[in-house]
Amino acid sequence: MSQRVVIIGAGVAGLSAARTLMDNGIDDFLIVEAQDRIGGRVHTLYSENSTKILSVKHTISSYVDGNVLELGAQWIHGEEGNEVFELADKGNLIWNKEHGDKHSPSGASKYLNHDFCKTDGTIIDRDIVTDTCHALEDIYTDLNSCDHVTHEYQNLQDEYNARFQKLIDSNDLKGDVTEQKRGIYRWRTAFEIHDNACYSLRDVKCPCRYTPCEGNGLVELQNGFQSVLDTILQNVPRDKILLNTPVKTIHWNHSSSTCRTECESGMSLICDQVILTSSIGYLKKNHLTLFNPNLPPSKLQTIENTGYGSVLKIFLEWEMPFWSEGFTGIQFVWDCDIDNVENSKIREVDSHWSRGITGFEKLPGSGSILLGWVGGRPAEIAESLSDEDIIDTCHKLISKFAKHLNVPRPKKVTRVLWCTLLERPPATNISPQFMVRTSRESGSPKK
Ligand SMILES: Cc1cc2nc3c(=O)[nH]c(=O)nc-3n(C[C@H](O)[C@H](O)[C@H](O)COP(=O)(O)OP(=O)(O)OC[C@H]3O[C@@H](n4cnc5c(N)ncnc54)[C@H](O)[C@@H]3O)c2cc1C
Repeated sequence: MSQRVVIIGAGVAGLSAARTLMDNGIDDFLIVEAQDRIGGRVHTLYSENSTKILSVKHTISSYVDGNVLELGAQWIHGEEGNEVFELADKGNLIWNKEHGDKHSPSGASKYLNHDFCKTDGTIIDRDIVTDTCHALEDIYTDLNSCDHVTHEYQNLQDEYNARFQKLIDSNDLKGDVTEQKRGIYRWRTAFEIHDNACYSLRDVKCPCRYTPCEGNGLVELQNGFQSVLDTILQNVPRDKILLNTPVKTIHWNHSSSTCRTECESGMSLICDQVILTSSIGYLKKNHLTLFNPNLPPSKLQTIENTGYGSVLKIFLEWEMPFWSEGFTGIQFVWDCDIDNVENSKIREVDSHWSRGITGFEKLPGSGSILLGWVGGRPAEIAESLSDEDIIDTCHKLISKFAKHLNVPRPKKVTRVLWCTLLERPPATNISPQFMVRTSRESGSPKK
């Protein structure tokens, strides 16, 4: 087969590339996608009752009460100069333009009205939470400021530690208040780990090298992120997208004007140009076999030097909500640093990966489901665990911190194994069962 352009990947980047080609009068292209669905790291689930007719619709029974579940991307971060925001705004896709709260660019402010609970189950006074979170937000905003381009600090963690210590020292606080503030700081750094999808904030060297878009940091979409994909896809004919077609090797050569894209199936696509949109994580693992000849050293170095971490969303579902009307969520405030876990009294929930869970939040319209986030190494460990293990650990964790609530065992967990899915070589089959991991009712056999 021969065409002018081959686009590898049908995520937002690949679909946007296709749309740009179409807008410029080029329709001689083909999108090849390894998975059996378009969207990549955008994956919206709709309830069976959803009346929305969308081009791609994935349903899970009993899940959302007329609403959506975002297994991947959920928010548009920032408004000004953000092309995704402009696209969504033009299509009237935004939910919280008139509704809901405006949130800071970091997104952490979203949790201010949650219960911040300590390991002994007590809830920290709201004034202390608000005060500390605002102060930490100010420090974080300043650390992200472009002023630091000329005055680069060693890494985010050390600088954040130093500034927080200065804050504590400058206030004459009672010992227990100081301890609570330290706990909230620990929570905030765990939040930053999953928000930055890094292993440690020591790995985050230059937050100032990207500029956050001004405006609401957590713009929500009324019909999920899939609606943005649908808008991008509007003029792209479906027969231009080849699903279940992992690309094995791109044969390219400076001296030749054509490339050959070799697929796992044995099919070869001859073209003038290849647009590759695989994740950096995928490139890190597969560049040696993906390019023939290999990429020039400067490009390899860029792949090497670009950070790529892990983030996992854990959706827990109960038979019915165990929380009352005003409940928004619970955040976990540990009483010691993760490095001291071995010696601490928290051993009973010591599955270390669970320290990476910052809390669980109620999603609007999501009935009896709570969402928890995990980042870094804990996310990778969690991907390797069974659904029963995840349910057990999360149940113990929530019961421990939310002593004021009577927490029953969740009946189901849903998660996408993003790290495994996006980095694994495409040689092996990627089945939907593998991609979206959902436990059955508790007590039934594991998948
Ligand atoms: C849990 C989670 C939450 C997130 N939340 C947000 C959020 O709230 N807001 C936000 O802006 N961003 C968020 N992100 C990030 C956002 O989802 C991604 O930045 C964005 O979707 C990336 O799009 P992409 O097209 O560049 O890559 P991808 O979506 O990864 O698409 C790449 C596609 O290429 C395919 N592919 C790769 N290699 C091959 C191959 N060899 N052959 C064929 N096909 C191949 C893959 O299967 C995939 O479909 C989140 C990500 C995750 C994982």
